[in-house]
Amino acid sequence: MSTRILIMEDNAANLRLMSYLLESYGHVILAARDGLEGVELVLRERPDLILCDLQMPKLDGFDVAHRLKNDPELAGIPLVAVTALAMAGDSVKVRAAGFDGYISKPISLTSFVSQVQQFLTSCQAPELALHGR
Ligand code: MN
Repeated sequence: MSTRILIMEDNAANLRLMSYLLESYGHVILAARDGLEGVELVLRERPDLILCDLQMPKLDGFDVAHRLKNDPELAGIPLVAVTALAMAGDSVKVRAAGFDGYISKPISLTSFVSQVQQFLTSCQAPELALHGR
C-alpha cells in the first residue's frame, strides 16, 4: 500500500530516519521543518496521514492539531504525534488536542513502519480495526 505521508519534524536526523524507513516500504514522503510549513503542505497536498513532532518552530504540534482538527476538510486526515512523552498525563493532553494517537520517540527501528501502518488502517477503515482487536 503506497501512501503519501507528511512528516512535520524540525530535527533533521529524526526526519531523515523516519523518511528512510517509510520510503523503504514504498510510502511517499512529504516533509516540513516547522508547523507553519506543515499546515501549508496539508492544505496543498492533502496527504493520507500526518506524523507531527510536538516541539517545532513557528507553530508547535498542538497549534497544528488545533488548526487541522477545526477545519472540516482536513480533520479526517489521521494526525499522529511523534513525541517523547515525559509524563503520564501527556498522552491525555495529546488526545485532547485532537491527535488520533502518538508514536513514542525515540522511534523503534523494528516497529515504526508497522505502527504507522496501523494508524492508516485504524483511521481509514474503522470496521476492519475493530475485527482485529
Ligand atoms: Mn522538535
